[in-house]
Formats: sequence, C-alpha cells, structure tokens
Amino acid sequence: MSNYPSEPEFEQAYKELASTLENSSLFKKRPEFKTALAISSVPERVIQFRVTWEDDKGAVQFNRGYRVQFNSALGPYKGGLRFHPTVNLSILKFLGFEQIFKNALTGLNIGGGKGGADFDPKGKSDNEIRKFCVAFMTQLARHIGADTDVPAGDIGVSPREIGWLFGTYKTQKNLWEGCLTGKGGTWGGSLIRPEATGYGLVYYVDLMIKHASNGKESFKGKRVAISGSGNVAQYAALKAIELGATILSLSDSKGAIIAKSDQGIQPADVQAIAKLKVERKALTDLLTTSEYKDKFTYEEGARPWTKVGKVDIALPSATQNEVSGDEAKALVEAGAKYVAEGSNMGCSQDAIDVFEGNRKEKKGDAIWYAPGKAANCGGVAVSGLEMAQNSQRLSWTSEEVDSKLKGIMTACFKNGLDTAKEYVEPSAEGELPSLVAGSNIAGFIKVAEAMKAQGDWW
Ligand code: GLU
Repeated sequence: MSNYPSEPEFEQAYKELASTLENSSLFKKRPEFKTALAISSVPERVIQFRVTWEDDKGAVQFNRGYRVQFNSALGPYKGGLRFHPTVNLSILKFLGFEQIFKNALTGLNIGGGKGGADFDPKGKSDNEIRKFCVAFMTQLARHIGADTDVPAGDIGVSPREIGWLFGTYKTQKNLWEGCLTGKGGTWGGSLIRPEATGYGLVYYVDLMIKHASNGKESFKGKRVAISGSGNVAQYAALKAIELGATILSLSDSKGAIIAKSDQGIQPADVQAIAKLKVERKALTDLLTTSEYKDKFTYEEGARPWTKVGKVDIALPSATQNEVSGDEAKALVEAGAKYVAEGSNMGCSQDAIDVFEGNRKEKKGDAIWYAPGKAANCGGVAVSGLEMAQNSQRLSWTSEEVDSKLKGIMTACFKNGLDTAKEYVEPSAEGELPSLVAGSNIAGFIKVAEAMKAQGDWW
C-alpha cells in the first residue's frame, strides 16, 4: 500500500477483505492467491476528468469527475455513479473494490467499477442538475459502452439523472444501447430495478433468520431499525412491512425519525418520504406538519442505532461507516440478532469486530452480521438482468425479474455460508458461520480464477 497516497476508505475496504482471507485456510491451501490479491487491489484503469457547467445565474461552475474501471475479469465494468460533495478517489476506489466481489457473488457476468463526481445536488435546481449531467456524460461517454463499462445510480443519482445521462450518451454517440442501467421502465429499464437493492436485502435477511432459527422464525413480528431514507431504505422498509415486520426508524444526514407508536413507520409514511426526497428536501420538512409530529420523534444529528429501544434487526442503508463500534455494542445490548448492510461498508471495522466477536462467543444466540457485498447485491444483480434484457431487446415481467432476484439472493447466501464452512474453522460447535469471511472468500476465488485464466497473473 506504500505506493499510494493516503486513501483511508479504500485501505479500510482492502484490509477488511484481506484480513478475512488471511484468517481463513485459503492462503494455506492456495498460497498463489496472495499474488492475485495484491494484483486485484490495483484498478485496471482510473479516469479523472473536469466537468464544467453553467449555473442558473449564468456563472461557470466546475467539478471533478471520475470513473474507476477496477476489474473486467468477469464482464464489462459495472457499478454506480455517486454525486456527493465527499466523492474523491479513495471513496470511489473503496466502492469499486467492493463492487468487484459483490458483482462476482451475483453469479452474473459483470466486472467491477464505480464513478461519480464531487457535485452536490442539494440546493441545486432541476435545470442545474440536468446541465451538470449533460456536462458529466459529455466527458464520460468516450470511456463507457454496453460491452465496455455500464454505470448506474448510487447516492445522488436517481432514475431522473440516469435519463439525462443516457440522453446525452445516445446523442453524442448516435447509438441507442444499454450503456447505463436503472433506466425508465418504458425505455429499456428493467422492472423491479428501483426496488431491487431494498427487496434483495430483505430476502437475504429472511434467509439468515430462517437458517439461524431452523425455519421457526421469519420477519413476522420483528422490530427493524433502518437508517437512510433513499431508495434502498424505502424499499427495504416496504418489503419488511409486507412480511409482517415493524419499522422503527429512518434517517438522513441531518437526523433520524423514530416511530412513536408500536405500529411503526407505515407504507403511506414511506411514500410521503419518497416524495420529499424527489424534491431534495430533508426529513425535518416532514415534521413541520402536526400529523407527522404526532407519529415520530426527531433525533437531531443522530443515527437511529442508540435511539430505537429494543430491536431485532438493523439494516444500515445510508452510507459508509454509519455504525461505529459503540453503536454496534448498543445494538447488541438492545437485543439485535441480525445486522445486514444495505449500504456499502455501512459498518466500521470496529463495528464488524463487535459483531464477529459476539458471533464467536455466543454461538447459537449470537448477533449475525452480513456485509453489503452480499446483502445488497440485489441492486446490481437486477442491473445485470437489465443488461441481459437490453441485449435481447426484450422486457421481462415483474414476476420474472423478482423471482430471478430471489434466486440470486438465495445462491449468494448459500455461497457465503458454504464457503465459510469450507475455509473458516469454527471456534466452537454450533457457531453460526461468518458471512463476511465466506462471502469475501467466495467472491475473491471466482475473480482470482478468472484473472488467472486470462493471464492477469500466473
Ligand atoms: N450503486 C449500486 C451498488 O452499489 C448499484 C450499482 C449498479 O446497479 O450497477 O451496487
């Protein structure tokens, strides 16, 4: 790592993966994989470009744009675009690195990449965002394509932005092709893509619950804390409610809303929040009405984890490092049995250490942690299905996509579980397998083998 400038988020993501491989029997069985790990930590290509655009006052504005084309062993580079003021190369390398192994776990032919810009959509008009998207794609278009690199959305990039980006690509290249996923349903987008990350997360946790309880329990009656209020959080909440759970919380960068009644946050509340988000408003705007003041308490500047009381399931679904070591301890104290990341690297390494330590100590009654690579792969999986539909020039029904999504989440869960059993010695009998180690090892082996076959290492 000494050849790099300091890249804290990327180093964290790399160490998290590397430590699980090192603590398993993988390198004993396959020492040559150490070389593969070192090589896979260097992106195949990093593109950085200037984006200049005109604001509503007619003044020139500029941002830094990026695309990290990390690994193409399994297919075209694939991964979202993030528009957020914190975006830099460290953030995009961490996201791109995670994406390689996540995409491998979907079982589809997609490589790993990530991109974005340090552009802040907050406080911008629709017109300014559209102009930014046109300027951004004017630079990016020459580097992507349906068989080269297929971006999608991430934080700050919704289907609306995908539309403006797609239109610019098509005009510039005179080519209608599946160069982006997350497109509108009537013009090449896949049904269920907007829902896929949140739904897939809940399907994955449902498998965890059924496995840990020997099929005796499900989401029914479970108390679920969710952070975030974007697309992942919204659809995770709606699916968990459908399966009989109570949603205790949602949040944004300014604070958390906690449901006052035992019924929790209702589907109509989620719809109201979704509308608010489209207008780029904060959750505090919801609380200006007496209807919502009666329903929720507001925790300013806080994340929900220490505020929800008794909790069974925690789904961090906002952004990276949104669960600290202390918050992880608080979740354990509050009775949480399942933690699964809807966000990428939602848990800090300290938090993962708390969860994994508890899993080893407490055997059957432990908290069970699932990393974003596995638990949130449903989003990019349906992006992969969107690519397949675009190549066929066909659209599949919602039922067909949803059933494929369920199949992918089931295979991903089983793969993580079986791989952990194969490569990680349990410290005690009856211990739940480590989903973080199992998923990391399974994703890594698949990518490393493909890289070797293609001559990336030998
Ligand atoms: N940004 C999402 C993720 O982290 C989706 C990427 C995609 O659909 O390409 O997986």
